[in-house]
Amino acid sequence: MIKFLDLQKINNKYEAELKQVASEVIDSGWYLLGDRVNDFEKDLVAYQEGGFAIAVANGLDALRLILKGYIELGYMKEGDEIIVPANTYIASLLAITDNRLKPVLVEPDPETYNLDISRIESRITSKTKAIMVVHLYGKVCWSDDLKRLAEKHNLKIIEDNAQAIGARWNGIRSGNLGDAAGFSFYPGKNLGALGDSGAITTKDENLAKIIRALANYGSAQKYVNQYQGLNSRMDEIQAAFLSVKLKYIDEENHRRQEIANYYLANIKNDKIVLPQFGQNEEHVWHLFVISVQDRANVQSYLSDNRVQSLIHYPIPPHLQEAYSSLVYRVGDFPITENMAETCLSLPLWPGMTKQDINTIVQLLNRI
Ligand SMILES: *Cc1c(COP(=O)(O)O)cnc(C)c1O
Repeated sequence: MIKFLDLQKINNKYEAELKQVASEVIDSGWYLLGDRVNDFEKDLVAYQEGGFAIAVANGLDALRLILKGYIELGYMKEGDEIIVPANTYIASLLAITDNRLKPVLVEPDPETYNLDISRIESRITSKTKAIMVVHLYGKVCWSDDLKRLAEKHNLKIIEDNAQAIGARWNGIRSGNLGDAAGFSFYPGKNLGALGDSGAITTKDENLAKIIRALANYGSAQKYVNQYQGLNSRMDEIQAAFLSVKLKYIDEENHRRQEIANYYLANIKNDKIVLPQFGQNEEHVWHLFVISVQDRANVQSYLSDNRVQSLIHYPIPPHLQEAYSSLVYRVGDFPITENMAETCLSLPLWPGMTKQDINTIVQLLNRI
């Protein structure tokens, strides 16, 4: 069986180091808000090549806290609008609606799967306060036009960088392009903890300070509460694991790129649409997503041949029961809906063998 993702194999590679730091944390008697988290935040700032980093409990909270921080700073208030791609993981929207802000969905570009920047301006109103770009599947969503548009309309750009740690656009790291970025270290992400974790990065020191307080009950000083905050802290043990794994993320992303390049060069079948990316960007291939009309059959053919594949994502947020209150219908976002019906994610992770990759190519070319 070729697994879609084998976390055991991925983490086994670092077993000795992970066990070492775990035992150090256990022995330290200190499990939250300690040196490990401070060190990981410094490591992340160094990796991101500048800015401030705040370690939090998960990626959804990272995005929620960015918006909550902007609300506390007075940049936005209940009822304001945030532009967000229609074809994202639901967490991007949950962060918005949880803050009583309104998500304004915009279709993606069918070739890049990322937010179609040319469709944004017509959706901007006097209530629009930010654009949330999602670097979907590890591919950066950015352009000079996007930046100009945000400046022209005085909008913040928030990056949902959950899937793209390590990616670059014109040499700049994703998470360092906009005003603030949310990271997820969910175990299956490119940089995965051994449990839930997330982080925020920003160059805005005031925002960073407020978010740090908001993530800790709204308190910067123990038992003094300035804001109505959350409890969203990264565990010391997860921070220790992440500092170990961060050392190897570029190597792992490089391996992902090699596999993706092999797929791109060798999958040759008119029935399969391959993912695309531009010259000026470094894609980190969180997912390798193809598009096929006959998806159900392709997926069962792969599975009959012992290859696991997954769908990211089968139901777009606007058609989820959770968002029935937004009163969208089937047909409102045809590009997004078509993607949801035709996308298929192939196995792509650093520990895959050459033989696995070649088997998948051969199977797909025989369809
Ligand atoms: C994983 C993910 C999140 C949420 O991260 P968690 O750590 O699972 O809360 C948000 N947005 C996108 C695009 C994601 O892929």
